[in-house]
Amino acid sequence: MTDTTGAQEPGDAPAVPASAVWLKGQLLEIASALRPDRRPELARAWTDPVRWRDPAPVGHRFLFLLCVATDDRPTPPDDVLNAFAAAGWTVRTQRSGPDGESWATAGREDFDVRVYTGAGRGLTTLTGWTPVVYAERQLGQPLFTRSTADGILCDGCHGWGVCLECGGRPYSGGSGGYGRCWCAGNNAGPGRCVECGGTGLLTAEEEAWLRRRHGDDAPSRQPPPEDGHDSNTGAFLAVSRRPCRCGEFRCSWRNTLSRTDGHLLSHFHATCRTCATRRTHTFRLPLR
Ligand SMILES: [Zn+2]
Ligand SMILES: [Zn+2]
Ligand SMILES: [Zn+2]
Repeated sequence: MTDTTGAQEPGDAPAVPASAVWLKGQLLEIASALRPDRRPELARAWTDPVRWRDPAPVGHRFLFLLCVATDDRPTPPDDVLNAFAAAGWTVRTQRSGPDGESWATAGREDFDVRVYTGAGRGLTTLTGWTPVVYAERQLGQPLFTRSTADGILCDGCHGWGVCLECGGRPYSGGSGGYGRCWCAGNNAGPGRCVECGGTGLLTAEEEAWLRRRHGDDAPSRQPPPEDGHDSNTGAFLAVSRRPCRCGEFRCSWRNTLSRTDGHLLSHFHATCRTCATRRTHTFRLPLR
């Protein structure tokens, strides 16, 4: 990987566009409607730099992570989705795991939100993102950016899924057409990225190789539980602000809340979006 710094964005911080301001307002408003008695917690606001061929970004996506407080009263996932629908969003996908986790996505125009509810109904988080905003050259939208991928971006195309030499456009011949490209798909088009076959992501084998290279080949080791937080929301806010040992903070946290020996045990796990390390944190919380 050539761009593995993650937390340190190259260049100046981009100006916040109106689209990001609007999205943040929508998320806070919907979260407030769900729990009028609690101020929603904005855990993190950040950007995903978007690369084309050069290391310098050509555009940015703006993202926000909110925690809908659920410590004293779990918020059913359907209530969250109904609140999005009432605000004009469309629920696009919905799936649930066997132990009570659930994932859903809602969209409105080019904006997306991922709604996650942990096992044990400990936590509901909202991750919202804008379309990629370009500084100069107006490109289309990549398949993924680093935070929205369910995996690690391909080294060759950085999540675009297409060959960046021909832009994925077929060879059209003639003087006004696009030149013939080295990529296998170009004559017939579209010129898919040869490294990832158009998925935009590393394969499971490449991810495992990356993980081994970073010394993470013992996924079963569990850190001892940490004390010092009295709510799962507090624990989540702490976890969401911790970087991986590689410096990257981007990952999609999952949470399991269980009751053991007179206290609650909150377990977080995620895969780093840059080095593939499997990250875990456990907290011992008081029973209410
Ligand atoms: Zn090509
Ligand atoms: Zn690729
Ligand atoms: Zn990492």
